[in-house]
Amino acid sequence: MARPLQSTMQEVPLTIADIFRRGQSLFRGSQVVTFDGGTSRRADFAEVTERVTRLAAGLRYLGVKPGDRVGTFCWNHQEHLEAYFAVPLLGAVLHTLNVRLSPAQLAYVINSGGDRVVIVDAGLTPLLAAIRSQLTTVETVVVVGRADTSGLGVVFDYNELIKGSAPLREWPVLDERQPAAMCHTTGTTGDPRGVVYSHRSIWLHSLATVANFALNENDRIGLMVPMFHVNGWGKPYAAFMCGADLLLPERFLQPHPLLSFVVAERPNVVVGVPTIFQGLLMAARAAEVELDFVRLGICGGAAVPTTLMQAYQPWFPLIQAWGMTETSPLGMVSFPPRGVVEGDSSYWHYRSKTGRPVAGVALRITGDSGTPLPWDGKTVGEVEVRGPWVASSYLGGAGRERFRDGWLLTGDVGTVDELGYVQITDRTKDIIKSGGEWISSIELEDALLAHPAVLDAAVVGIPDERWGERPLAVLAFRPGHSADPEDLRQFLTGKVPSFWLPESWAVVAAIPKSSVGKQDKKAIRQLQAEGRLEVRRLVRVEAVWADRLRVPKGRR
Ligand code: AMP
Repeated sequence: MARPLQSTMQEVPLTIADIFRRGQSLFRGSQVVTFDGGTSRRADFAEVTERVTRLAAGLRYLGVKPGDRVGTFCWNHQEHLEAYFAVPLLGAVLHTLNVRLSPAQLAYVINSGGDRVVIVDAGLTPLLAAIRSQLTTVETVVVVGRADTSGLGVVFDYNELIKGSAPLREWPVLDERQPAAMCHTTGTTGDPRGVVYSHRSIWLHSLATVANFALNENDRIGLMVPMFHVNGWGKPYAAFMCGADLLLPERFLQPHPLLSFVVAERPNVVVGVPTIFQGLLMAARAAEVELDFVRLGICGGAAVPTTLMQAYQPWFPLIQAWGMTETSPLGMVSFPPRGVVEGDSSYWHYRSKTGRPVAGVALRITGDSGTPLPWDGKTVGEVEVRGPWVASSYLGGAGRERFRDGWLLTGDVGTVDELGYVQITDRTKDIIKSGGEWISSIELEDALLAHPAVLDAAVVGIPDERWGERPLAVLAFRPGHSADPEDLRQFLTGKVPSFWLPESWAVVAAIPKSSVGKQDKKAIRQLQAEGRLEVRRLVRVEAVWADRLRVPKGRR
C-alpha cells in the first residue's frame, strides 16, 4: 500500500533570534530614536544589535542562564529595546514590569515571575528600592542611567556592563516553544496574572503585525504605548522584522512633550491608547500643528470613541484594534470591508466597530451556558478567541475558569455581524444589568463623547433598589466648557434606547485611569460607593422606565 503523502517542507524554528538576525543583517541603517524630553538620541540597528550581543554577554556574566527570568522596570527607550532581544536570545525570559503598579502588586509580580535580575531606569530606582526587601528571587539589579542605588543590593551600571563585555558569539540553540517573554495582566480585579509568550508565538504575532498594518522599511513607528504593556503591542519585534524605524518617547507621554517629539521625528505610524491620542489631539490643535505626515494611527486597549477617530480623519485614519495581554495582543482590527470608502453611508458604521479577527485568530461569541451564538449583529455574548498567539493558561495555573475547550474567555461582551465585525459593548464585569436588560456602558460613553462640551466620559452601574442597577454617567468637560445633565440627557435621546438614559450624573476634573491609561471603572465605583462623587439625580427612575416595554430587548 502506498505510504500517505508527506509534506516536503522544512521545519524551521520560529524564534526571536531570526527576527534579530533580520534587523542585524538586512536593516543595519534603520533607526532607534529615544526622546529625552527635549532632544532625541539615535542609534542605527547596526549599533543596537552590536550592543545586544554585549548585553547578552554581560547578563551571562551576571549568571543569567536559559530559563531564568530577567525583569525590566523601564520606560520606552533604546536600552529597553536591547533587553527585548538580549534576554530571549540567551534562552532567558524577558519579564516586563508595569511601572505604575502599586508597591504590593509590583513585589507580587516580581516574586511570582521569579526574576533573578531586574533592569531598572535610574528614575524608577526609588520604587524598586522601596520593595527590595520583599523580593525573594532577585539577586542583581542593573541600573540604566545614574541613580542613588542605596537599598537595591548588588547593583551594576547598564552601560558599564555593556562596555565591559565582549560580544557574545555562542548563542544557545532555541526551541520555538520555549518561553521568551512574560507579562502580567494589569490586575484590576485581583492579583495580576502572568502570561508567558513563546518564541513561536512572538514570531507569528510579529508577522501578523507587519502584515495587518503593511509595516515596511519606509515606516517610522511612533511607539506611544509603554513597552511594559504587552510587549509594546509587539511593535518592537515587528519593526525589526520589517526594518521600520522605532521612535521611543521614553516617559514623555504627556500631550505637549509627546507632540514636540512627534513633530520633530515625524513618525508615519503612531500607536497608542485612546487617552494618549486624545491628549495629542488637543495639543496639536492648540499649537495649530498638522499631523498629516502620519499614514496610519493604531489605537486600542480600550474602546476608541468614534468622535476621536473622526477628529483625526483629516490627517490620517485612526484605526481601531482590539487585544489583550492574553492575545499578545493583536486580535482584531477594524478596517472597513471591501468597497466601503470614506463618504459612504456605512463607512463610519464599520470604522466604529471593534474589529474583525486577524488571520490566525479564531473567534466566537457564546451565551451563558457556553453555547455559540449567531453572527447577526444583534445577539450579545461573551467573546472567545483562540490562536497560536493566544494564551492557553496563566502562569502557575491561575484563572482556569478563563479557558474552555481550547478557547480563551476574554471577559468582553459584544455582538458579531455577518461579516465578522465585532462590537464590544462591555467587559463582563462592567456591564450594567438593569431590570433584567443589559445597558452598554461603552455605547453610552461613545454617545456622550459626541457632545462638544464632553472631554471624557465613563459610565458605571450603581446599585438600584428597584432595577438592580442603573447607569451613572461620570464626565470630565473640556476646559472652559460645561453642560447641564438635563441637556445631556436630551442630547442622548434618540441615540440610545430610552431606558439607558442615565438619571445619575457626576462631574470630575479627570476620569480616573488605570496603570496603562484606561478608564479605571473599579476606582470610579469605589469613589461612588464611598460617597466621594457629587452625584446629581435628575428624575425618578420609574419615570425613565415608563416606555421601557417598547424597547427591543438588548440580549436574547
Ligand atoms: P489588557 O490586557 O490590559 O491589554 O486589557 C485587555 C482588555 O482591554 C480587553 O479585554 C478589552 O476589555 C479592552 N480592550 C482592548 N481593546 C479594545 C477595544 N478596541 N475596544 C474595547 N475594549 C478594548
